[in-house]
Amino acid sequence: MDIIQLLPEHVANQIAAGEVVQRPASVVKELLENAIDAGADTIKLLVKDAGRTLVQVIDNGKGMSVTDARMSFERHATSKIRKTEDLFHLHTKGFRGEALASIAAVSQVELKTRQKEDEIGTKIAIEGSKVLSQEPIATPPGTSIAVKNLFYNIPARRNFLKSDTQEIRHVIDELQRIALSHPEVTFFMYHNDNEVYHLPASNLKKRIVNIFGVKINEKLVPIEEQTDIVKISGFIAKPEFAKKKRGEQFFFVNNRFIRSNYFNHAVRMAFEGLVTGEQHPGFFLFLEVPSHTIDINIHPTKTEIKFDNENDLYAILYATVKHSLGQYNVAPVLDFNRDSVLDLPYQYKDKLPHKEPEIRVDRTYNPFQKEEKNNGFERKTENWEALYNGIQAINIPESETKERELESAMLFEHSDIKTQQLQNKYIVSTIKSGLVFIHQSRAHQRILYEAFLEKMNSGEVHSQQLLFPLQLHFSKSEILIIKELVEELMACGFTFETIKEEYLIVNGLPPQLEETQVAALFEEILESKEENYGTETFNYLEYLARLLAKNAAIKVGQTLHEKAQEELVDNLFNCKEPGISPNGKPCFTTLTLEEIDKRL
Ligand code: ADP
Ligand code: MG
Repeated sequence: MDIIQLLPEHVANQIAAGEVVQRPASVVKELLENAIDAGADTIKLLVKDAGRTLVQVIDNGKGMSVTDARMSFERHATSKIRKTEDLFHLHTKGFRGEALASIAAVSQVELKTRQKEDEIGTKIAIEGSKVLSQEPIATPPGTSIAVKNLFYNIPARRNFLKSDTQEIRHVIDELQRIALSHPEVTFFMYHNDNEVYHLPASNLKKRIVNIFGVKINEKLVPIEEQTDIVKISGFIAKPEFAKKKRGEQFFFVNNRFIRSNYFNHAVRMAFEGLVTGEQHPGFFLFLEVPSHTIDINIHPTKTEIKFDNENDLYAILYATVKHSLGQYNVAPVLDFNRDSVLDLPYQYKDKLPHKEPEIRVDRTYNPFQKEEKNNGFERKTENWEALYNGIQAINIPESETKERELESAMLFEHSDIKTQQLQNKYIVSTIKSGLVFIHQSRAHQRILYEAFLEKMNSGEVHSQQLLFPLQLHFSKSEILIIKELVEELMACGFTFETIKEEYLIVNGLPPQLEETQVAALFEEILESKEENYGTETFNYLEYLARLLAKNAAIKVGQTLHEKAQEELVDNLFNCKEPGISPNGKPCFTTLTLEEIDKRL
């Protein structure tokens, strides 16, 4: 019996659409690329409900004839290539002729288009690949494509979409990529009728500033290199502005955004010694190569490219970035406490006394010197017996809270704890069983974290009012994200005088947080790529408590006088879970006498 059948066309289309259209952002990408390919110099993107209900792109490009308008929704219908060779000399974004067919298979599309030379335009309504109507219409030259109710006919895929916060981020990512590679084109973006971007036609540097906000201006170092096989241009961000999470990293090859771990690595290596292992340098790099040396065909959504001469490109990229860093005299900076200061918006930075970054080392510390003053180490020998009979060392990450509380209460011999700071990093104290080493920063984070959480949950918010409110600048898209978190931020103690399109004014801070730490905190909130961020189960209060604690906590490298040390120890062991920092790292460890004895 024969059992093989051809799939009905609409099913085939839906399956194929899965490759091209994963989420609203994929539609945005395809429509924007088509508008660019059509030679538009002004492009408007309208989005509703993070693209779930509407993605519309309006351009003033060359438009389509009546026949082309209808043809454009056919699979493999493209005006961009005619013969195989064309594939190797692409200068358009699209070439597969699949996007519109795929989009129309999974949504309700309304197309309006007119060529300049035609008097009347065409309107087509199409739904799940079925043409519902086609009629002449008066419309401005150019094309408008409205994609409504994405995945209306595939509930499974609709349910698969993430929160609005996440989906709109993807949309914004796509717009940013296209807008960066076409600064000569004017872009508008609206989300739920609010303007997210108005990017006037300009040069690359202004475009970067318009997208990422004025504060990025002073970070950019230009890059320019021309060799036989590649031309490199663009900007890198000075190493001191490198971010902890991958942020502003953009590679474009022949003006097409690509991802490349290999090239990323080249840039990283060029920054070696200038950024720490956890930091990611920012860059906007444009590579131009002869189109026959690349194959952009390997990935359906085309963010990966195969190169003929990858190794050469790596070497050139590395050398070019390194050269620029040298040329602009961007010297290494090493200072543990610099983050909050350097991340301040520039108008505040000027007001701060200029201080050379420094490495803080306790020069008087000598691990081999016999301690003679009345301090923790001395007490150790005094109370030898008691120590030796003390409780066993406790193991860190176990979190049997009850037991731990008991243990910590029993941990210290006397109520008057004597402490000693080690390398401005650890607080050392004697305990019955030996020594405890407390990580000062993590311990303080734990203390603050529990305090913040308690305040937030009890609803009794305290806020320190600022005499001079802080003005912080952000890009419009960043402000949107902040707006979504306003309630939670206020629950922590922030108060805002105003939140405008590109800046906000903070006039009240959570207790413990200092003015100089605010900018860094917001940066971190915006950079967050935490798993589940933006999903329903994500606990923003807990997350903010963690960030606040991290930013407000005592840092490694900070000298603490005796009183502060003792308070820290005291407060830590009054915590519910003194053993682990809010980020899951141990706060302290112990060294028992037995262990010491074994070594001696
Ligand atoms: P591709 O871009 O790969 O050619 P698409 O499915 O994205 O495939 O588009 C099909 C065709 O429709 C394009 O080749 C182009 O001729 C036409 N088209 C699509 N969008 C526009 C637009 N905004 N303006 C003019 N023509 C367009
Ligand atoms: Mg296309």
